[in-house]
Amino acid sequence: MSSRELLGESTADPHLPERRRSRRATHSSAAAAALEVNQEPPFRMASRELHPESSVVCAGGVEIGAGRLVVMAGPCSVESRQQIRATARRVKAAGADMLRGGAYKPRTSPYDFQGLGRKALGWLAEAGRESGLPVVTEVLSPEDVDLVAEYADLLQVGARNMQNYALLRRLASGSKPVLLKRGPSATIREWLLAAEYLLSGGNARVVLCERGIRTFETATRNTLDLAGVALAKQLTHLPVIVDPSHATGKRALVVPASRAAAAVGADGLLIEVHPCPGRALSDGEQSLNPDEFEELMVTLRSLAFCAGV
Ligand code: PEP
Ligand code: MN
Repeated sequence: MSSRELLGESTADPHLPERRRSRRATHSSAAAAALEVNQEPPFRMASRELHPESSVVCAGGVEIGAGRLVVMAGPCSVESRQQIRATARRVKAAGADMLRGGAYKPRTSPYDFQGLGRKALGWLAEAGRESGLPVVTEVLSPEDVDLVAEYADLLQVGARNMQNYALLRRLASGSKPVLLKRGPSATIREWLLAAEYLLSGGNARVVLCERGIRTFETATRNTLDLAGVALAKQLTHLPVIVDPSHATGKRALVVPASRAAAAVGADGLLIEVHPCPGRALSDGEQSLNPDEFEELMVTLRSLAFCAGV
């Protein structure tokens, strides 16, 4: 089935834009010749149709998409040197592959904690070095890309910024891999086209992250689109990971949602862990404490064992 059919789009649309029709003439590769113009995938570089083999993205020495579930864990926000160092030690001991922590926080309210900025980046990088974990952190604006890239191994584009094209263009010409979160109201097509900005701009190291979408349901913070993860894996060769913390908003749902994500074929997990979730400055209600995270890792190991991976 073609990408267009998988996305529920007509493959016999006679009203395709002129530009797309005329592109046929400029294609010279065998793959292009095999494609009817109206079956051409909407995202060319991200598409599995033109690149059937799964891509492996390397971030700070960790391979994402190589068949092993990669776990990134840490607090929503870096709150102090001591907090991030303690968290790094515990998540590393439990088997995490990467350390997360926000220095620049995109908050719904301007009155909420906005992150500690440059100071927090330094503490995060230090905790990562000490524990032997590469780090992932969010970059909010194009002007911050160079600074954040000095400290981070993987640059996160947050859900609210998925369609910030100035930021995507800037990251496309940078040297660091990018973790592209799905926007809360973005379709899978829009998500993959956002990835296409990075790929077509010259950065092949892109990892996608499903973190829940907005639906009528308010009992969970967002709705985890697990079928969307499976579909994205069919549509693109890029690795796809899941953030069960923001997807559910509830600590008690993080473990079952993580298991489900692993079962549906996700390449990794991004999980919020705080030494004392009750005192967290952001997202405490969805953060696991280090003991809970350790239990989750044991569960995931047995799941991987059962699945034979
Ligand atoms: C986060 O990872 O802490 C975060 C703000 O995520 P999202 O962009 O998915 O809301
Ligand atoms: Mn958070």
